[in-house]
Amino acid sequence: MQQNSTSATKNDLIVVTGAGGFIGGELVAEFRRQGYEKIRAVDIKPFEEWYQHFPDVENFSLDLNLKENCDRVCAGAQRVYNLAANMGGMGFIENNKALCMLSVLINTHMLQAAQQCGVQKFFYSSSACVYNADKQCDPNNPGLKEEDAYPAMAEDGYGWEKLFSERMCRHFREDFGLQTRVARFHNVYGPFGTWDGGREKAPAAICRKVIEAKVSGRHEIVIWGDGTRTRSFMYIDDCIKGVEDIMHSEILEPINLGSSEMVSINQLVDIVEAIAGIKLKRRYDLDAPKGVMGRNSDNTLIRNYLGWEPSIPLRVGLEKTYAWIYDQYMARERAQLAPAG
Ligand code: NAD
Repeated sequence: MQQNSTSATKNDLIVVTGAGGFIGGELVAEFRRQGYEKIRAVDIKPFEEWYQHFPDVENFSLDLNLKENCDRVCAGAQRVYNLAANMGGMGFIENNKALCMLSVLINTHMLQAAQQCGVQKFFYSSSACVYNADKQCDPNNPGLKEEDAYPAMAEDGYGWEKLFSERMCRHFREDFGLQTRVARFHNVYGPFGTWDGGREKAPAAICRKVIEAKVSGRHEIVIWGDGTRTRSFMYIDDCIKGVEDIMHSEILEPINLGSSEMVSINQLVDIVEAIAGIKLKRRYDLDAPKGVMGRNSDNTLIRNYLGWEPSIPLRVGLEKTYAWIYDQYMARERAQLAPAG
C-alpha cells in the first residue's frame, strides 16, 4: 500500500476545470467541506447553468480550448484537476465524435499552461472508453485490467482522445517533470449529474424514464439495446475519494477508478423499478446507441496501491440519485405548469 507523498496545505490554490459539470462540481464541494481556502472553479458554461456554483470560491466562465484562458486559470496554482471535456452518455459520444476529439485542445493547453506556471500536480480524468473493444465482447466481462488498453482499439472519437491525452500526461511528466496523475473513470453516477437533454448516462436516463412512467401513469419504458449488455457504475462519493487518493499517491500510470459490481441494463432497470415501487412493460430499441457488450473494472491495482476500492452498493447510490432526479423532474413540471409572466 502506498503512502501519501504530497505536502498539500489548505492554503494551496486548487484549480478544478469542468467545475460547472457533475464531477467537477462535486470536487469543488468536497474541497470546500475540507476547508481549502483558495479554490478556482472553471467551466465554459454560464454560471446559471452550473450544477453547483459556490459564491465563496473564485469562479470563471471561460473556454479552455484557448491557451490564454488556460494560462489565466493555472496562474499561481499548486494543483490542477482537469475534468473539462465535451462528453455525455452513449447517445452523445456515438453521434459527436469530432466534438469529443476536440477536447484534446483543452487537455493540451491545460498541460502546457500547468507546466509553464509551475503547477505541482495535475490530475486528468480519463475513461474506461480507452479500453480495447475486442476485450469487451462478452457480457460476463471479468474486469478490464489497466494493460487491456493496448494494443489500442479505443471507443471511436471520445476513447481515442482520452487515450491520446493520457499519453500526453505521461510524456509531460517524463519530459518536463510535471507531476501528472491519471484515473480511468468507469461510469460515474449520482445527484447533480446530467439527467436529461441527450448527454445523460444510463443510470440517470433510466431513473428519469421510470419517473416519467410513474408520474404519467403510462407504465412502460424504452430501453436502449436488448438489456443484456453489462456495465459497472460508481457512485460519485467513491469517485471523489478515489480522485484525491490517486492525486496524492505515487501511482504514475493510468489506473482504474470504478466499481466492480457489474449488472446488466435489465438489472439496472430492476433496481430503479424497485426503488420507485413500480413494474414497467419493457420495450427494447435495438437501433439505439448501445456501446460494447460487457464492461467491468478490475480493481486489483487500486486495491494494491491504496488498500481501497469503490464499494458503495449500486442500490444505495441509486436511491439517492433517484430521489434527486425525482425532485428535479417535479420542479421542472411545476415550472412548466406555472402561469407565464
Ligand atoms: P460533465 O459534462 O458534467 O462535465 C464536464 C464539464 O466540462 C461540463 O460542465 C462542460 O461545460 C465543461 N467543458 C466542456 N468544454 C469546455 C471548455 N472548452 N472549457 C471549459 N469547460 C468545458 O461531465 P462529468 O461527468 O462531470 O465528467 C468529468 C470528466 O470525467 C470528463 O473529463 C469526463 O470525460 C470524465 N469521465 C466521466 C465519466 C462519467 O461517468 N461521468 C466517465 C469517464 C470519464
